Amino acid sequence: CENTKPTGPIDTTMCDYETVESVNGELFTNIHELVKMPFFKYFQVDLYRDCPFWDDYGSCNNPGCAITTVDESEVPLKWRASALSKVDALVENRHELPGCYYRDSDFCWLDDNTEGDYYDLTLVPERFTGYSGPEAHRIWRTIYEENCFGLSEFSLMDGKAPAPVTLPDTMTDVLREDGADSDQCLEKRVYYKVISGLHASISTHICAEYLNQTTGEWGSNLQCFVNRIASHPERLQYIYFNTVLLLRAVARLGPYLSAYDYCSSGTHQDDSETKEKLLNVIHLAQQAGKFDEGALFRGENANVLKEEFKIHFRNVTRIMDCVGCDKCRLWGKIQTTGIATALKVLFELDEKTLDPHTNANLLQRAEVVALINTLHRFSESLEAVNEFRRIWADLSATE
Ligand code: FAD
Repeated sequence: CENTKPTGPIDTTMCDYETVESVNGELFTNIHELVKMPFFKYFQVDLYRDCPFWDDYGSCNNPGCAITTVDESEVPLKWRASALSKVDALVENRHELPGCYYRDSDFCWLDDNTEGDYYDLTLVPERFTGYSGPEAHRIWRTIYEENCFGLSEFSLMDGKAPAPVTLPDTMTDVLREDGADSDQCLEKRVYYKVISGLHASISTHICAEYLNQTTGEWGSNLQCFVNRIASHPERLQYIYFNTVLLLRAVARLGPYLSAYDYCSSGTHQDDSETKEKLLNVIHLAQQAGKFDEGALFRGENANVLKEEFKIHFRNVTRIMDCVGCDKCRLWGKIQTTGIATALKVLFELDEKTLDPHTNANLLQRAEVVALINTLHRFSESLEAVNEFRRIWADLSATE
């Protein structure tokens, strides 16, 4: 830490990779339990809205892409659409399209809770589905190109797997290289890191739960991880970057989340159990969420840059409607909503707005659920990275 130049959040968060590492085991244990609670496990979303960008978005016929819904009667009454739409009616400054809307402060399009099915997220692991090829590539390319700050590393996308190199096993290796162009301004680099980090986290899940199509067995695929992540150390760095960003948002939301009503089936028992687990997560987020949001959006063109950033990220949330695999689309929507919620908390809401007593309806339930489930996914990716390090070390020892 002493050797890095404190020139902004990227450098300052670099100092905190070790802190994230040191808390992640405990964080994962707690958040893994938290997301099983009724409040956090049911998510309502319309997965079948039209893709606004092109017609032929295809579909994944692989059974791995399929997903099952849960009946509304399983969802605690309080969180059903009919009850939620009453709360939504209070939302001001809405910009609407059929089925979705955003408010001026939002970084994403949100569902308006009038349509869409319920999913039990604990039954839908993010893992290999078989969705791949030109259609999946087109989505990623469009997302990177949405970055019209002019920073695109998609030239990397030559269709060839990078040559396997060593798996980074120390944080020094992970920090050795920063893929985003250092000539770009901070905000543009942050945009790229957020997207690349999300892509890397999804890839880590795919490699950690990979289907061997010859044997039909599920398991870790080290070569997949080496090709997609370890041979590009900056991608692993961006997983940490997103984790710190999400942790900082949860830390800032501490008082708001602590006062939130989680009463899921009408019993205080549920509410207190959920709160107890959540308080542990908030406590860890306060230790490790060292992201300096104050260093962003403060220069000459701060407001213009922030509006641009929002427009791009909102488009990313809409591109998710073009993903041709139901399961991937579900997690794509949840995670882009979760990151967008974190960005809103960090860059749009001041301490006064975050006060739960004056602003109890500040966040929609879907935003809170998406934020926590997204942090869970990133924490799980870091656990998987450790597992890959262990597999690599065992292999190296036997050679
Ligand atoms: P891709 O991951 O498709 O990447 C395309 C190109 O982008 C690469 O060739 C490389 O040049 C570049 N690239 C790769 N990673 C990064 C990075 N981190 N940063 C910068 N550039 C990068 N598949 C599943 O099996 N399960 C899922 O749950 C799943 N969810 C998905 C969710 C979304 C939103 C999308 C768009 C796709 C999802 N997919 C999922 C598909 C998956 O992401 C890959 O597209 C697929 O596995 C094919 O991988 P690939 O090796 O061809 O490269």
